[in-house]
Amino acid sequence: MNSIKSNLINIEKRINDSCKTSDRSNDEVKLIAVTKTVDIDAVNEAIECGVTDVGENKPQELARKYEVIGDRVKWHLIGSLQTNKVKYIIDKVYMIHSIDRLSLCDEIQKRAQSIDKQINCLIQVNISKEESKHGILEEDAIDFIKNISNNYPNIKVKGLMTMAPNTDDKNLIKSVFKGLKDLANKIDNENINSVSMEALSMGMSNDFEIAIEEGATFVRVGTSIFGQRNYNKK
Ligand SMILES: *Cc1c(COP(=O)(O)O)cnc(C)c1O
Repeated sequence: MNSIKSNLINIEKRINDSCKTSDRSNDEVKLIAVTKTVDIDAVNEAIECGVTDVGENKPQELARKYEVIGDRVKWHLIGSLQTNKVKYIIDKVYMIHSIDRLSLCDEIQKRAQSIDKQINCLIQVNISKEESKHGILEEDAIDFIKNISNNYPNIKVKGLMTMAPNTDDKNLIKSVFKGLKDLANKIDNENINSVSMEALSMGMSNDFEIAIEEGATFVRVGTSIFGQRNYNKK
């Protein structure tokens, strides 16, 4: 058996085990295969093994792969998004996970409206408050989302996304994921018009099991499926 296939089988098993441990149904958790830097053949192979959702962090790379692969999978833009690159992906993405400022919402609204599309979006929250991380601060989230709800009719807020610190401290990772879930509950209680908190995008190769136990609905896994990335290979 090739490695992508066996890696995927292994990850599905670990996802199922984490769901069992946390008393969740495994259809509440969707695997996003993160295909950044991975070549088209490998992406196709993953699709043949049953992958339905792929994540890219660079708009042009998403667009390039979309031209070949198309709508056989759902495309998730998971990395920080520059305003001037929205145009490459607006007609291709199923969901944008990295909404973190109103200037980005302005551009998405303008582009989405021009093609009459509703864009599923997640608000990226910097729960861990690391300087290096993108995302709005937890305390700004409710005002930010109310603003989107009131002023950006083509942006559909479906939930939240966060990245845990890169650390071996499992308790710290867990507290970050729990923080996102608690914030989602708090936002849900506000009953903001056309905003839902159905999706929580959290957990990567190193921490997706903890994320599932804390309520993740999307886990974004790259390295554990495709191996270590080689950023020099194009
Ligand atoms: C690369 C990336 C991932 C996947 O990380 P791995 O450690 O390779 O599983 C997840 N989320 C985002 C935003 C990424 O950029």
